Amino acid sequence: MEKSTTAAILLLLYFFEFCPQPGVSSFANPSDDLGGTAGCPLVTTLSANYSVLLLERGNIPSAYPNVLRQNETLANFMQEDGGKTPVQRFTSEDGVANVRGRILGWSSMINIGIFSRADSEFYDKSGIKLDMNLVNNSYEWVENTVIFRPNVTRWQSVVKDAMLEAGVRPDNGLTLDHILGSKVTGTLLDNRGKRHGAVEHLNKGHPKNLRVAIHATVERIIFSFKASGLSAKGIIYSDSNGRSHRALIRGKGEVILSAGAIGSPQLLLLSGVGPKSYLSSRKIPVVHPQPYVGQFMRDVVDEDLRVMGIKALRVVDGSVFNLSPGTNPQATLMMLGRYVGVQMLEERSE
Ligand SMILES: Cc1cc2nc3c(=O)[nH]c(=O)nc-3n(C[C@H](O)[C@H](O)[C@H](O)COP(=O)(O)OP(=O)(O)OC[C@H]3O[C@@H](n4cnc5c(N)ncnc54)[C@H](O)[C@@H]3O)c2cc1C
Repeated sequence: MEKSTTAAILLLLYFFEFCPQPGVSSFANPSDDLGGTAGCPLVTTLSANYSVLLLERGNIPSAYPNVLRQNETLANFMQEDGGKTPVQRFTSEDGVANVRGRILGWSSMINIGIFSRADSEFYDKSGIKLDMNLVNNSYEWVENTVIFRPNVTRWQSVVKDAMLEAGVRPDNGLTLDHILGSKVTGTLLDNRGKRHGAVEHLNKGHPKNLRVAIHATVERIIFSFKASGLSAKGIIYSDSNGRSHRALIRGKGEVILSAGAIGSPQLLLLSGVGPKSYLSSRKIPVVHPQPYVGQFMRDVVDEDLRVMGIKALRVVDGSVFNLSPGTNPQATLMMLGRYVGVQMLEERSE
């Protein structure tokens, strides 16, 4: 089994060759409040056996004490987007105002905190090859770190009673499963009103193998062209001063995109992977024509989440779902991060 190196980018360069540059902070010892949605459980798991580099364009959660306080959640959404604030505002092409995370721990550090496992239909129809024993073990691994029983407030009890009276039955009590009827589910917010999040998984990582760089914005993927085919080789990222750097994978390492449903397709497009006509219209050299990138992402990856036609490149985040988990997605995303990490460790030990 190969132990040395690669790169996981953007969340993830895995088995990497990386020189920390001035302006890029690295976390060799993630003992602070850290977090992240699909990427954090994934890098944590991989770090058990391999060197992993996690790149995040935002800052650490403790740099924004408000994100850690439940009672500031709405204020964070309303905050002016200063370019470096943890909530990035954007408007979709059809005019819908929205936000996404710009912080280590990602959108799990700015969201409402509701935690509910996917419904049973998801496992059959997601298009991702899923072993249910590993799915359940992965959920449990995630939940042991970040899940709390909510304080059900008076108005929440009233809503629940009203739903039961209206026939939304049975009353399932407290459960993380997404099932028919009414239920109370888990939350990332503890009883003291403190937020927890995917970033805390990093605390379980192997301290010598896991490095985290913040203020590191990935610009594009670097490819190598060989007779054996096209392969991801690393990434180019810029630091907080706008200086450009590269991180390269080694051996059997991989580049894994976990930049979210918007960020990962965007990075593929910026790297020349996407519809030819679209790339040409933006003067981006075409590296690998893929007609659906930016439209139906799930068609851009195989059932192991590898980008088709390109070696050493995977996408592990919300962009790869071809149907909704049926409920709030973060539980499924954290599970998927752990799941893919365990699978990759097993693949390499065979
Ligand atoms: C306001 C709001 C409330 C929500 N409430 C809930 C809820 O209560 N329960 C629930 O289950 N879900 C909720 N969600 C949804 C959930 O948080 C997201 O679906 C989930 O976090 C997405 O995870 P992801 O791993 O796909 O991407 P993200 O968590 O968005 O992670 C992407 C990360 O990649 C980074 N990134 C992007 N591009 C680059 C780049 N070029 N270079 C470096 N880094 C980059 C971003 O900064 C970000 O940190 C909510 C979402 C929002 C926005």
